[in-house]
Amino acid sequence: MAYFQKIRQICDEKGILLILDEVQVGMGRTGRWWGYENLGIEPDIFTSAKGLGGGIPIGALMCKSFCDVFEPGNHASTFGGNPFACGVALAVCQTLERENILNNVQQRGEQLRNSLQAIASQYPDLIAEVRGWGLINGMELKPDVELTSIDLVNAAIAQGVLLVPAGPKVVRFVPPLIVTEAEVNQACEAVACALKNG
Ligand SMILES: *Cc1c(COP(=O)(O)O)cnc(C)c1O
Repeated sequence: MAYFQKIRQICDEKGILLILDEVQVGMGRTGRWWGYENLGIEPDIFTSAKGLGGGIPIGALMCKSFCDVFEPGNHASTFGGNPFACGVALAVCQTLERENILNNVQQRGEQLRNSLQAIASQYPDLIAEVRGWGLINGMELKPDVELTSIDLVNAAIAQGVLLVPAGPKVVRFVPPLIVTEAEVNQACEAVACALKNG
């Protein structure tokens, strides 16, 4: 947080635009609409894609009015901004709001981190840290152990849970924003089994 506040301050002092990439941390992933809301700053420009279309390809760039300089035709994209994709993005936004999905992200995220933390405390020699926001979380393995993120991902797959490696020592947990309490429990039990067996 202090890092981003410092970046914001430097950008303000030097008249530099601050552009943040919200493709992965935006659209409710962290339990707030945009990831930067966790940082106590505002960017001048930010990007969105992936989750914005809920599976339909779309990308977007949002900016403050003072730096709104793009005219139609300035920035080309083969499928960008077509009416169908925009209609889908609007429906995704409305659904997130209507079904109070951000609330689910906050609650399930807390549940997930608490459960992973409990697992981590059972394996203090293997697991260095559990960290994250909402439903984007990482479990970091100790640097000096043999177990890598790929090993743990493969062991979890054998237990029926799909995780993603994020670097050699971090395993990522990015479940759907509509994940249920029972599913989080099930996934954490599978991770505990994977650690026990692997
Ligand atoms: C996927 C991704 C992008 C690129 O999105 P496009 O829709 O291919 O433009 C940019 N940043 C992050 C963090 C991404 O995950």
